[in-house]
Amino acid sequence: MNRGDRWDEDSRADGVADAFARLYGGPPDGVWAAPGRVNLIGEHTDYNDGFALPIALPQNTLLAARARTDGRLRLHSAQGGGRTVELAVAALAPGAVTGWAAYPAGVVWALTEAGHAVGGADLHFDSTVPTGAGLSSSAALECAVAVAYDALHGLGLSGPELARTAQRAENAFAGVPCGIMDQMASVCCTAEAALHLDARTPQDHRQVPLDLRGRGLGLLVMDTRVAHDLGDGAYAALRAGCERAAALLGLPALRDLDAGGLPEAVEALPTELAPLVRHVVTENARVTEAVSRLREGDPAALGPILTAGHASLRDDYRVSCPETDLAVSAALDAGALGARMTGGGFGGSVIALVEAEREDAVGGAVTAAFEAAGHRPPRLFAATPSAGARRLAPGGGTR
Ligand code: ADP
Ligand code: MG
Repeated sequence: MNRGDRWDEDSRADGVADAFARLYGGPPDGVWAAPGRVNLIGEHTDYNDGFALPIALPQNTLLAARARTDGRLRLHSAQGGGRTVELAVAALAPGAVTGWAAYPAGVVWALTEAGHAVGGADLHFDSTVPTGAGLSSSAALECAVAVAYDALHGLGLSGPELARTAQRAENAFAGVPCGIMDQMASVCCTAEAALHLDARTPQDHRQVPLDLRGRGLGLLVMDTRVAHDLGDGAYAALRAGCERAAALLGLPALRDLDAGGLPEAVEALPTELAPLVRHVVTENARVTEAVSRLREGDPAALGPILTAGHASLRDDYRVSCPETDLAVSAALDAGALGARMTGGGFGGSVIALVEAEREDAVGGAVTAAFEAAGHRPPRLFAATPSAGARRLAPGGGTR
């Protein structure tokens, strides 16, 4: 099993700088890294102004970047199909760029829109974050650009400001109506901690210490390699449903409803909206409970909270699918302390909290269950809470 945390970042940084030199001639001004994430609990809550608890993955997107003064933006990715995309910064507008380049170009557009006099650049990306697996490769791509531009132009933006800029790129430029969790995780997470995010006030995020190995635990990530097509439109529809429910209840956001008010709200709402509201309210409570357990130094107590979160996503929010349900049930049957799908749903990845010595057994059981059901084998790795976006080279240090 790939342990993820053994990857040699220095040699990867050298490799991406060498590739940059071959592509564009001459060295980059620097190399930056931005990670993917898994969310421990707090799913579909960020766009309801609620809570989440992500960790950054050791898998990340590296960016070698060099500023340009002629207003040209050149983008190349080792995972981008081989072509270099060339754009003029002055011509960037929502809808003008399609394909993968919309995510990084959108960040340059969002910075410009916010009044920062940034120009073009030569950019080369190389990522170890699986794409489209619910592990936030899109946010890693955006956040790498945000931290690189911040450093290259001395913008001095805070982590949450960089995350907001990256989210704006994804929402307004790439056309994906995501909340702010993915970008906050990629920018603001720290090693050995989970990020307690309140999406209404991202600037007040807190690091919650999380030493899984020290407690004899592991977090197994299982990429089901399934992405059901209904994902995109369904996400927007769910978000719209939540906003309609909040409006009907006379609330700014569903975050403003607590468990005490839930029975009355469920009674008052149309039947198609009530389960959405129940998920968001109970999920916010699960984040609060999970943070309490971690603060008490009891990460194993997260297990049942994760499993309850999965049931809520499956039965109330209805974003699970046969493959993610199977991964969860097979992991639990094999002795996982808890398991749930993570990310937006309709496929993607499942996480399982396991005793470290059960990691391989649980992974093996899920793989066997997939084989028996005729699914492709899942990709497995053990996640350690890792650092957020930062500068790698030259000079090292943080952004
Ligand atoms: P997720 O963020 O869960 O991985 P998304 O659908 O939000 O899934 O984002 C995946 C998309 O992001 C890919 O289809 C691709 O367009 C883009 N992407 C992410 N990482 C890279 C990369 N390293 N190179 C090129 N495109 C990438
Ligand atoms: Mg994404």
